[in-house]
Amino acid sequence: VFIVVEGGDGAGKTTQLDLLQAWLEERGVPVDRTREPGGTVVGEELRQLVLEHGRGEIDPRTEALIFAASRSAHVTQRIVPALEAGTVVLCDRYIDSSVAYQGVGRELGVEEISTLNEWATAGLQPDLTLLLDVDADVSRARRSVRDADGGDRIEASSDDFHTRLRAAFLARAEAEPQRYAVLDAAVDPEALHHSVREHVAALLAT
Ligand code: C5P
Ligand code: MG
Repeated sequence: VFIVVEGGDGAGKTTQLDLLQAWLEERGVPVDRTREPGGTVVGEELRQLVLEHGRGEIDPRTEALIFAASRSAHVTQRIVPALEAGTVVLCDRYIDSSVAYQGVGRELGVEEISTLNEWATAGLQPDLTLLLDVDADVSRARRSVRDADGGDRIEASSDDFHTRLRAAFLARAEAEPQRYAVLDAAVDPEALHHSVREHVAALLAT
């Protein structure tokens, strides 16, 4: 079972993944927790490359290809083998992040980035995507706390950028409602964890 957590910066993806992973492991469910960009040796190096050089050295198309390359390695080397072994894969970001950041944020086009990533992943789609939805105010408040502790971020982003990304994530969810759960991520982490659990429990029961 392949579960992805998506959302803009400051949505609380990492916190929710920590809570979900702990909950599943307490129940004896085998879990492989991973993230994008990253998740493999090559993928983590590609992540470092993008984070270190940032937007000065890496133009948008190059960046989109690096993220797609990281994702391709991730699917082939880690996600598919884990799924075949019966492990529940929990992944922080997947194709929707590229569609939002590179397709809409960097204006490379939703269709182009979807097609590129469908090729990179050989069409592997999550069984469930938990979209943690927050507005620009909440995102800004949470980002500023994390940036103050030097968290890894490519660049500071504006409210307008966040609003465009948010709309892109929501559009993906609306197009395929059966594979998505859109959750209000402005609530406190425990309350959000309860709704995450409900969706995951329902999926695992099927
Ligand atoms: O959420 P995470 O910490 O993994 O993201 C690292 C950085 O990469 C963040 O600045 C995020 O906004 C950016 N990112 C991006 N395009 C993606 C995925 C992440 O610009 N497809
Ligand atoms: Mg995170």
